Amino acid sequence: MTTTPDPIDHEALRTKYLEERDKRLRPDGNDQYIEPSGRYAHFLDDPYVTPKEREPLTDEVTVALIGGGFSGLTAGARLKEAGVEDVRIVEGGGDVGGVWYWNRYPGAMCDTAAMIYLPLLEETGYMPSKKYTFAPEIFGHAKRIAEQYKLYDKALFSTQVTKLEWDAASSRWIVHTDRGDAFRAQFVAMGTGPLNRPKLPGIEGIESFEGHAFHTSRWDYDYTGGDPNGALMEKLADKRVAIIGTGATAVQCIGPLAKAAKALYVFQRTPSSVDVRNNHEIDPEWFKTLGPGWQKEWLENFATLQTGGMANEDLVKDGWTDIAQRIRGRMIERWKQAGGAQIDADFLRRAFEECDDEKMTEIRARVESIVEDKATAEALKPWYRQLCKRPCFHDEYLQAYNEPGTHLIDTDGKGVQRMDKTGIWVGDTHYEVDCIIFASGFSFGSDQIRGTGFTTVGRDGLDLGDRWAEGMQTLHGMHVHGFPNLFVIGPNQGAFLISNITHNLTEAGTTIASVVAHARKEGAQEVEVTPEAEQAWVSQFQGNRPGFLGNPDCTPGYYNNEGAPIGPRERLNAAGYPKGPVAFFKYLEAWRDSGDFEGLEFR
Ligand code: NDP
Repeated sequence: MTTTPDPIDHEALRTKYLEERDKRLRPDGNDQYIEPSGRYAHFLDDPYVTPKEREPLTDEVTVALIGGGFSGLTAGARLKEAGVEDVRIVEGGGDVGGVWYWNRYPGAMCDTAAMIYLPLLEETGYMPSKKYTFAPEIFGHAKRIAEQYKLYDKALFSTQVTKLEWDAASSRWIVHTDRGDAFRAQFVAMGTGPLNRPKLPGIEGIESFEGHAFHTSRWDYDYTGGDPNGALMEKLADKRVAIIGTGATAVQCIGPLAKAAKALYVFQRTPSSVDVRNNHEIDPEWFKTLGPGWQKEWLENFATLQTGGMANEDLVKDGWTDIAQRIRGRMIERWKQAGGAQIDADFLRRAFEECDDEKMTEIRARVESIVEDKATAEALKPWYRQLCKRPCFHDEYLQAYNEPGTHLIDTDGKGVQRMDKTGIWVGDTHYEVDCIIFASGFSFGSDQIRGTGFTTVGRDGLDLGDRWAEGMQTLHGMHVHGFPNLFVIGPNQGAFLISNITHNLTEAGTTIASVVAHARKEGAQEVEVTPEAEQAWVSQFQGNRPGFLGNPDCTPGYYNNEGAPIGPRERLNAAGYPKGPVAFFKYLEAWRDSGDFEGLEFR
């Protein structure tokens, strides 16, 4: 048996990764972040529209969809397809789109290929312009879905839900909002998303900064010039700009900033892993050749390959499927070498680790090959496993550091420690700037309801927050005992396919539509999961090992609770179907198609 010599010292890498993690662990964990308040309170406002005056509503609809992002839109579309016309989106923003409504920063795009990320492409007949589409096109697609399915008709925008209250006497939810509404809905679907509230680092002196400041999710084009379509931000030509953070958002907007600003200071705590993007236009002639059902096939192909399964062809072919392909290659090699011997869990774990080391070594080499200044290149190298943080893919980010006006201020894992009225301190060095851009991310609602800003009160006054105090309790991540006619939309306790979030959402929409349609057909007023079915579902997740989400060996971030211990609650919240996303989607389809809706009670 011959083996290829492995040039990577895996043990040395493990040690280096842990050293780098330790530099970043801090006792305050999630508490290091603060809600925008005081001088920064307006960071939560909507800069894009002035809310329209309207009278409060007390009417009734069949389904209320909380959130107008792709969760609400795909559920709304599927409901309309099932003949449920009476559907109302309630959305805090001034339009549909969710994260794609709020995030209009320059360079914003989706890291997941548009052919699978954009929902309902066949239904809308839309061809994405590129393999990876920019934010305005994604926002446009959200609006297209809303228009095609007439979801604007009853929608309430610039409206925050303040409370959902179950009225047992009428078997209806009462939806209370900050606009004084108290309307009724037979069913409610909650598509509030996990990353919707901007957060700021709790840096000493943050309040004292007197220059201009904004958060990436509320980009201030009045100040910077330019626009979300990529026009040069000409007003920055005489400005010294600081950006705090180097996560997935910063990686996308640093290129355009570097081109525009007189000086750009990038304050880095942990470098992102940035692999090649290789974006390209989609050929309309090729697109026309795709037959009916192509999107389902692409979705299944990606989900299969990305989660370690086998397929004859890699339709999406990108950074997400790359590592899975490598592992598959190793398995086949090993299979051949050992004459068909069993591939055990230990082999798989090592294969994962070795492929990851290989990938991250390439990513570090890529930094060196692009960034000209040696010290800057060294500081931009990520030392952790690829899925510890959101993997990034970009062909202009690293190049930005070759611009003479761009300066990486690496804090060696410590982060920015102090701000004053004119700028930022790192150690003993002060950086005077005109503007600070916070690319510091969002509060993470791991259980789908944390951070939504409203309470949900079910049967007998039961509060959903209390019900989930020890972690989410659901059937399929969607149905909760004690909360009849309520659907929770999200990947948790379901497929948990993080690399293509919208796949989880579209499937959820299909499920909601079939349950509602069935209830209407049966004349049922209420649908509720039985306690036994919920318990049986949750019991699959008891004692599950943390995946990357929750891996204490990872560098801290929102994926692993900022490095703080992961208790049973967090494990339950970040649980996925044990057999994986592909098996979950198959299971769910069969569950729906059987027409039995096992585990739900219709009354
Ligand atoms: P993140 O939470 O990923 O990044 C926040 C950044 O701020 C990190 O680099 C963090 O460093 C840094 N930071 C925090 N405190 C300090 C400090 N005191 N000093 C210096 N730096 C600090 O937020 P993003 O907005 O970048 O991304 C959020 C999520 O949004 C992504 O994970 C992804 O899921 C999604 N997204 C998706 C995109 C897509 O293509 N689909 C594009 C953009 C975002 P550290 O890493 O050390 O914590």
